[in-house]
Amino acid sequence: MAQVHIIGAGLGGCEAAYRLACEGVSVTLYEMKPLAHSPAHKLDTFAELVCSNSLKAERLNSAAGLLKHEMRTLGSVTMQAADANRVEAGGALAVDREGFSQFITDKIKSNPNIEIKYGEVKELPAEGVVIVATGPLTQGALAEDIRNRCGREYLSFHDAAAPIVSLDSINLDKVFYAARYGRGEDDYINCPFDKEGYERFWQELVNAESVPLKEFEKEHFRVYEGCMPIEVMAKRGADTIRFGPLKPVGLRDPKTGHRPWAVVQLRRENASGTLYNLVGFQTNLKFAEQKRVFSMIPGLENAEFVRYGVMHRNTFLDSPRLLDRFCRLKSDPRIFFAGQITGVEGYIESAASGILAGYNAARLIKQQELLSLPADTMLGALTAYVSDEQVKDFQPMGSNMGILPPLETRVKGKEERYTLLAERAVASLEAYLSKMSIQIKRRKHDEG
Ligand code: FAD
Repeated sequence: MAQVHIIGAGLGGCEAAYRLACEGVSVTLYEMKPLAHSPAHKLDTFAELVCSNSLKAERLNSAAGLLKHEMRTLGSVTMQAADANRVEAGGALAVDREGFSQFITDKIKSNPNIEIKYGEVKELPAEGVVIVATGPLTQGALAEDIRNRCGREYLSFHDAAAPIVSLDSINLDKVFYAARYGRGEDDYINCPFDKEGYERFWQELVNAESVPLKEFEKEHFRVYEGCMPIEVMAKRGADTIRFGPLKPVGLRDPKTGHRPWAVVQLRRENASGTLYNLVGFQTNLKFAEQKRVFSMIPGLENAEFVRYGVMHRNTFLDSPRLLDRFCRLKSDPRIFFAGQITGVEGYIESAASGILAGYNAARLIKQQELLSLPADTMLGALTAYVSDEQVKDFQPMGSNMGILPPLETRVKGKEERYTLLAERAVASLEAYLSKMSIQIKRRKHDEG
């Protein structure tokens, strides 16, 4: 009889199944394809890359490169498949999509510890250890069951994320700390616009280029009028955002003694206070346009955007409220979540969270201490972020160097800083794994 039930044979679910099987735990993996497909899935095989065929940068001193290194160290099947199916893509790791998916499908199907059951799962299994990895397009009866179990407001069907910048890239000489009407602590950083600066900004904002929505997303966002992108709101009139998220009321710039013409507020994003989000700036602009236009905001001229704003059809949990640091439901800790439904964003992030869920489900069965990776590793930082109760308006997060704790000494150059952060992460992961007696996988095609 299966010891663990995994729902969804996508990137997160396959990694979890593979890891459990390697740890000698028997698994039943439930997958609705080929009987039913989400609007984005086309192949009948597992671990399908639904859009781009790139797993992003390779170099270790990049967030995606570091995460991939950690995945290899942890014995990732995604990385084995990527290495076996790589196509030329400069500094990125791109793959032949069908070969990649087939490789993982073969690995899963041929594993004697994994039984596959086809068909749509409509509710969470009532017993046993469960990993839910049904991805960003989870819907229907299962989504309804999760909502009923967790509370309706804790499962979203789209993201509407505002950009996040790192504190140390903000020009603090141009901004001021204050909450409106002096209420509360100085929780906000305020970026004050004068009239001319605001008008230039507004012009660029309304003319900036957006990402086209996919057909199934257009339908979805028609229903959710509520999450209006800042650029769409700005098009309603030159002063609309100045009376909306950029309203300057209750704020006085200590440098001038006056109320600014408009104010962009930045709100603390994480427990350590290294990241700030642009309040009310959910956006669907192209990333390069966000960089260009939002860098016109006073104080953000050289801002480092650790996450750009996005708007997608995306099913995800309010994980900081619902999940513990092992990505289990606080209210029912036999149920793990993995992949994008936890609020990580991206192929490798989803796969990586599946590896960790696989390790931890196996350790739960074997009554061993669960793994909580150090926060200075990329996967540890991502897991800590999605379960950080201090994150209020939770929106999905991809790997980025900004979520790692800062270095002890300040290093100005980005390249050098990223190299040091990556070296620290590699050493930290290896030390942790050997402390927990977990074998470090070193070769590219290491099994198990
Ligand atoms: P998935 O890979 O989607 O796997 C979920 C699996 O669960 C699927 O096989 C599905 O058929 C199955 N399933 C779902 N519900 C049930 C059920 N009730 N019963 C049984 N089986 C079920 N990330 C990037 O890094 N780059 C991109 O270019 C990119 N493009 C994207 C484009 C779109 C349209 C979407 C929606 C997402 C995109 N993502 C991208 C984000 C994300 O990284 C991927 O969606 C990733 O595949 C998520 O992995 P996952 O394991 O969480 O879910």
